[in-house]
Amino acid sequence: MARKMTKSRRLWKQAQRYMPGGVNSPVRAFKGVSGTPIFVERGKGCKIWDVDGNEYIDYVCSWGPLILGHAHREIVSRVKKAAEKGTSFGIPTERESELARAIIRAVPSVEMVRLVNSGTEAVMSAIRLARAFTNRSIVVKFEGCYHGHADGLLVKAGSGATTLGVPTSPGVPPEYAACTMTLPYNNIDAAAAACSDHGSRIACIIAEPIAGNMGVVPPVNGFLESLREITEKHGIVLIFDEIITGFRVAYGGAQSLFKIRPDLTTLGKIIGGGLPVGAYGGKAEIMEKMAPAGPVYQAGTLSGNPLAVEAGLAALEVLSRPGVYKKLDKMASLLGEGLIRAARMAGIPSYHTRIGSMLCMFFSEGPVNNYDDALKCNTQRYGKFFHEMLRRGVYLAPSQFEAAFVSLAHTEKDIEKTVRAAEQSLLEIV
Ligand SMILES: *Cc1c(COP(=O)(O)O)cnc(C)c1O
Repeated sequence: MARKMTKSRRLWKQAQRYMPGGVNSPVRAFKGVSGTPIFVERGKGCKIWDVDGNEYIDYVCSWGPLILGHAHREIVSRVKKAAEKGTSFGIPTERESELARAIIRAVPSVEMVRLVNSGTEAVMSAIRLARAFTNRSIVVKFEGCYHGHADGLLVKAGSGATTLGVPTSPGVPPEYAACTMTLPYNNIDAAAAACSDHGSRIACIIAEPIAGNMGVVPPVNGFLESLREITEKHGIVLIFDEIITGFRVAYGGAQSLFKIRPDLTTLGKIIGGGLPVGAYGGKAEIMEKMAPAGPVYQAGTLSGNPLAVEAGLAALEVLSRPGVYKKLDKMASLLGEGLIRAARMAGIPSYHTRIGSMLCMFFSEGPVNNYDDALKCNTQRYGKFFHEMLRRGVYLAPSQFEAAFVSLAHTEKDIEKTVRAAEQSLLEIV
């Protein structure tokens, strides 16, 4: 039976008149899977309901922040209470220090932290800081890693193995892109070669310690270790972008899982409990270069916003309870294994990755260890799978190159229902 979509279709038409592409962030427009986006009305736990009354089990979870699920009781009640006391002051509050302290206690390499309003802003600021600290210009990033939309990071590799970048978006001056060097993810030799050739000009290497924006691509053995080693050798600042992985794969993020201490860490998503937040932090020696302690400028009217801080504190409090990550891991492994079985039964080539509660099913013939591998996926098949799942009440990311997130609100029953939907969906698309 066809799902009712009348109201979503009408709202979609209207949205496209008022906003470019009908959305405030591109992936929401379903370009990766085609079709009409659903318009959401509300969420509770792991479920969302669209404006036509259809119910879905949600694995996007606002692209990662909602690790407790939608409208979590403690977050909602504390945000309400905070709102009644005032939504913004631009004056220091005690709660900001409490969130900063919670982050510092959790994330091994972070000694001092600054709160901002988005992940993009966190990365942009961390890079400015790294450049100021080293008095060097070049930023090294990895293909397929996403670090927000700051100009210098919307860059792809130029021709040749280790080259300065070219813009991926109009509006990014080639002169900016030329300050960014792009390397293949999980390639230790390429990183070592770039550093031995250009080390004295490289300010920082930024990496997602587990890539989560080309699907989920874990680091190969030794990749993060060698990044730590070569950056230390060349006096380069190592930045881990833990905006997805922070408080997701472990309370202390990927760096606690892999036991590697970057110099700077960027955070976002989960630490805002579903409200707009970002943060960057690291060694005090580096962080103290930030204004007003030091000369590097960065500011924000709404930074440390009381509602966002309260939501973040509530989220971290729940996540610090015993057994939480074990439960997330258990649910996600049930889902991951169910998907592997379902794909095998349908005879559909696929490659599955999972670390804790973030996972990905690539419609790929071979393993996916970097961006080139990811691009070989059958995205058309993913699109079909996506719509079959949607029809069966499961909301996956509307793109092959995104993670699925399991939250604390997903129950065994939800996972079983999802796996059944996948079994049927995969048979439909062979
Ligand atoms: C989401 C994300 C960002 C950007 O954060 P925004 O809050 O969307 O600006 C940066 N880096 C990574 C790894 C992300 O997943």
